Amino acid sequence: MNILVINAGSSSLKYQLIDMTDESVVAKGICERIGMDDGIFSHKTADGREKSLTVDMKDHTNAFELVKDALIDSQVGVIKSLDEVVAVGHRVVQGGSQFSKSVLITEDVVNAIESLNMLAPLHNPAHIQGIRACQNVFGTKVPQVAVFDTAFHSTMPPKSYIFTIPYEYYEKYQIRRYGFHGTSHKFVSHRCAELMGKSMDQLKIITCHLGNGSSITAIQDGHVLDTTMGLTPLDGFMMGTRSGALDPSVVTFIMQQENLTTQEMDDILNKKSGLLGVSGVSSDARDIEQAVAQGNKRAILAQEMLVYQIVKYIGAFAAAMNGVDAIVFTAGLGENSAAVRQQVCESLQYLGVVSDNNLNEQMIRGKEGKITSADSTVTVYVIPTNEELVIARDTKSILKEIN
Ligand code: AMP
Repeated sequence: MNILVINAGSSSLKYQLIDMTDESVVAKGICERIGMDDGIFSHKTADGREKSLTVDMKDHTNAFELVKDALIDSQVGVIKSLDEVVAVGHRVVQGGSQFSKSVLITEDVVNAIESLNMLAPLHNPAHIQGIRACQNVFGTKVPQVAVFDTAFHSTMPPKSYIFTIPYEYYEKYQIRRYGFHGTSHKFVSHRCAELMGKSMDQLKIITCHLGNGSSITAIQDGHVLDTTMGLTPLDGFMMGTRSGALDPSVVTFIMQQENLTTQEMDDILNKKSGLLGVSGVSSDARDIEQAVAQGNKRAILAQEMLVYQIVKYIGAFAAAMNGVDAIVFTAGLGENSAAVRQQVCESLQYLGVVSDNNLNEQMIRGKEGKITSADSTVTVYVIPTNEELVIARDTKSILKEIN
């Protein structure tokens, strides 16, 4: 039973074909530079066959044709015909207040996703292009499912999601905290409960998704109580190139002083801030760690700030839940930077966190496990995330419902 998982961006399309009988990835790949010259298509199978080519892709339908051809190709293919794909699951970033769970895609659903374009101008229009391209290539008979980044956070109470601005803006424009990386927080929190041998409703968990984009979520009794990302994925703490939260006056001050347009200011906050902006070195934590080792002062500051802000949010969320049973690190940085994890854990001794440096050093490159010792009152885990698998599982369960 094969499910195709699609993550369509404005100029890229990532895919994974997952065999749901054992949840293994059969093939995966990416189309890059869609709509530009010198597009890049690469495809890999689980048994090591590969195809990579430079080819112009006029639009997402063009890109989807390449995916289809690769999947059924005589050399690098993994299925005989498209009939072997039972359903397609799409990642959709913004589900607004309308979508609290994954849904079968109908014309009404496409229209609803489109109506949220204003809240996710870079993402939702691209997802719709991906859905349309899929319909063009696979036909409309193959069920398609939308899985929303925001859905897992839909249990947040109003005290967490209403911003401290006039209420009319919430009513007029639905301006509120939505939260993102929901599929990742869902996957790792459920896996954490499994590892602890407890059900979600017995646990208070703080999940730290630390990647290029980062967010931290407080999950109590299986429900999201609060999360760091807000109306957009810019809120929270410092990321690769994004600022995270700051005094709103900083924005108006810089715009006035430098005579910037809203787009220019948006670029500064989204693309030139965070680790890159503070260090002046790179947005990549690996480069920062290297520069720290060479004594680069601004890289040291950037790393100290990152650790400090993570510690601050963990403390805030532990307070908000009146305790915490487990903390999870995931995503590129969370799964691989033993240094950042160790520094964070050292500042959490007041919570009863006793880290095990040996275990911490071992949990890299996709390894899953505990990094605290047996006498730690809070258990800290590294759990590799798998957002594609969440999308495939949700797609499978919706398929079951409609059949
Ligand atoms: P993601 O967005 O989850 O793909 O994470 C990508 C980010 O993870 C990169 O930009 C790096 O900052 C970080 N990362 C990946 N590998 C390592 C590593 N070995 N050490 C530190 N950070 C890493």
